[in-house]
Amino acid sequence: MQNETEKYALALHGGAGAVAGRDYAVTEEHLRKLATDCEQRLAKGGSALDVVEHAVNELETCGLYVAGRGSAPNSAGHVELDASIMDGRSRKAGAVAALPDVVSPVQVARGVMEKTPHVMLAGKGALDFARSNHFAEVADPAAYYILPVGVTGADIGGFVHGTVGAVALDKTGGLAAATSTGGTFGKLKGRIGDTPLIGPGTWADDGIAISCTGTGEHIIRAGGATAIAFRYRSGVGLEQAIGEMLDEVKRLGGDAGIIAVTKSGEIAMPYNSQGMKRASAASNSAITVATFD
Ligand code: ASP
Repeated sequence: MQNETEKYALALHGGAGAVAGRDYAVTEEHLRKLATDCEQRLAKGGSALDVVEHAVNELETCGLYVAGRGSAPNSAGHVELDASIMDGRSRKAGAVAALPDVVSPVQVARGVMEKTPHVMLAGKGALDFARSNHFAEVADPAAYYILPVGVTGADIGGFVHGTVGAVALDKTGGLAAATSTGGTFGKLKGRIGDTPLIGPGTWADDGIAISCTGTGEHIIRAGGATAIAFRYRSGVGLEQAIGEMLDEVKRLGGDAGIIAVTKSGEIAMPYNSQGMKRASAASNSAITVATFD
């Protein structure tokens, strides 16, 4: 099925944990390059699903964000990774949670979607699945993980958090979303936030694709991405649908940021934290990149 106007649109985030006053020039430059790369892929006819997986894989492996290589250790000193991906047209989805030491959790999440009858695998089972399907593992965790941009040693043990995500509309009208995180610094072993949860953290259907970032416990309790999608489906405008969910997160004591793209090519990237690393690109507008207002 061809989208009449062949329009495409894309939004990326590098997490809503940006701290006011810190310098994010390096991540802004990185997001600009990645948005350009992803835009070219969509312009050439790449699928939304492939593009969001590609974007999140790049955000995971660069080490600049709290995901993949830049992930936060839990209170036991180990990295546990969460990721999810969803295809709007088929409603197929895959996720991994509390998965130790793979190079690209989003690739494993897509593997769960395509190679199993399940939506989510967690912990040891997820690792066994990654191994038996030959997804790359981190050979030397002590050497691999690095502090991401904007995070200092003094942040460790505090409630510092970060995530990466991507949403896209492709030229056929397909929508997809993907999200990946190392979670929150100092989280309890086995803690799982919103990011790998299809519904709260990541959602795509035939009208909208959404990736959330922020304090996962509050996002889950506010309903997260599906709370936005269901409002939007019932006729609430995009900004209002997102704003109402963000207000609920705030009321519960957290903060969050959202990236969303709709079937009509509308993009929204609001947040109520101090800042959110973000970028957008679309067939009908120039690339935008920002961290703060
Ligand atoms: N939502 C993520 C989590 O709670 C963290 C973040 O987005 O910054 O694990």
